[in-house]
Amino acid sequence: MKPIKKLLIANRGEIACRVIRACKKLGISSVAVYSDADAEALHVKQADESVHIGPSKSAHSYLDIGKILTVAKQVGADAIHPGYGFLSENADFAAAVIKSGIVWIGPSPASIREMGDKQKARDIAIAAHVPVVPGSIRFNSDNMDKLHTEASRVGFPLLVKAAAGGGGIGMKHVLKPEDLQAAVIATQSLAKSAFGNSDVFLEKYIPNARHVEIQIFGFADSAVHFYERDCSTQRRFQKIIEEAPAPNLSQEVRYGMLKAAVGLANSVRYQGAGTVEFILDVDTDTYYFLEMNTRIQVEHPITEMTTGSDLVSMQIQLAQGDLVSMDQTSIHQMGHAIECRLYAENPAKQFMPSPGVLEQFDFAYANPAFIRIETGYEMQNEITPFYDPMIAKIIAYGDNRENAVSRLLAVLENAKVEGIKSNLSFLSACLRNPLFQQGEVTTNFVTENIKNLT
Ligand code: ADP
Repeated sequence: MKPIKKLLIANRGEIACRVIRACKKLGISSVAVYSDADAEALHVKQADESVHIGPSKSAHSYLDIGKILTVAKQVGADAIHPGYGFLSENADFAAAVIKSGIVWIGPSPASIREMGDKQKARDIAIAAHVPVVPGSIRFNSDNMDKLHTEASRVGFPLLVKAAAGGGGIGMKHVLKPEDLQAAVIATQSLAKSAFGNSDVFLEKYIPNARHVEIQIFGFADSAVHFYERDCSTQRRFQKIIEEAPAPNLSQEVRYGMLKAAVGLANSVRYQGAGTVEFILDVDTDTYYFLEMNTRIQVEHPITEMTTGSDLVSMQIQLAQGDLVSMDQTSIHQMGHAIECRLYAENPAKQFMPSPGVLEQFDFAYANPAFIRIETGYEMQNEITPFYDPMIAKIIAYGDNRENAVSRLLAVLENAKVEGIKSNLSFLSACLRNPLFQQGEVTTNFVTENIKNLT
């Protein structure tokens, strides 16, 4: 392995800026790529070099493997960081990068491929003695006759899940047998168009659940964990607020999950940053494996703040051979951190995306000792409809949970975000809600309390 001199970031927005920051810290030259819509974007300004890669639609720019590889060769990049989303969990892209002699900053294409299929991942978890949610065989057009037998084995209510699904897309909640067939067919067709693979499976639905995930970092021969994150504040299966550590979690459950996550990573000789996601049944205090994400996660800053780590730099250091192992006993969790995702959307209109020009974008009380504002935008930038409407992540650290909540509220309630509609006051309302304050949020929190939150 040789040191990385020039790194291309195959992404945009805040995560591109985050990777650029890691490059600056490590003395690596950064190359941004951008589409038409992003000509004025912050990641373009912050990178040492930037290259236009095409039209605004991501299929013709940020998702165009050929174009990105061509640019990487043209500029002489010796590594590619994919960020999250876009091509980050595309095993073919990872393989193509490696084949062209460029360092891929991420786990092996094999790990990406096997964990990218939720059902294969479940099988790997079972083999590693990690508990999984009761589930079914996979269904395609050949074996629909087995649907009802499998469903009664799993039990209702259940979720129909796309095997290749992600980002909360390709999941349908089914309450009764009469609705099953139609839900399966609809999910198969959605999965085909969104992920290019129509296979689905059934999973028992856990009605009172928390989402708790473990940050791991693998070195093939051994993996370590960086403790847990609670991501139960969700809307439509998508995370909105995350925190570390998870409040009101028994030590037995916490250590059970940590051990299971490391065991799973070791069982596949995992390399790099990854997240093992669990669903915790609040009624029985039982946890089950959900899936593994083979990339850096949106919510990684809360782990960095509570463990004093720099996971993005570590990804790069691992790829260039500077980091070969870590001792679990050197990793400690301290204090409390909470992240909320600021979206250009209108909570009063079913959270419809709200593109437009950011006329004001200013955060008071953002003392950098305790607050991280991660964004890819600045005042007068246009939020276009082409990409995810997340415009910033606001992360607060405190000695304890109360302290982190009050620091975060001070920033949210004094922020100026104008020109577009945003979920700023929705986020404050979540943090001020008694259930949140008591650390008793389940994944139903937003749906059940929507009247008080919007
Ligand atoms: P994705 O890959 O699309 O993010 P996940 O499998 O990670 O999908 O699940 C996303 C969210 O959906 C979870 O955080 C949880 O809120 C909900 N969920 C997933 N599986 C179950 C389940 N079996 N029971 C209850 N809720 C679930």
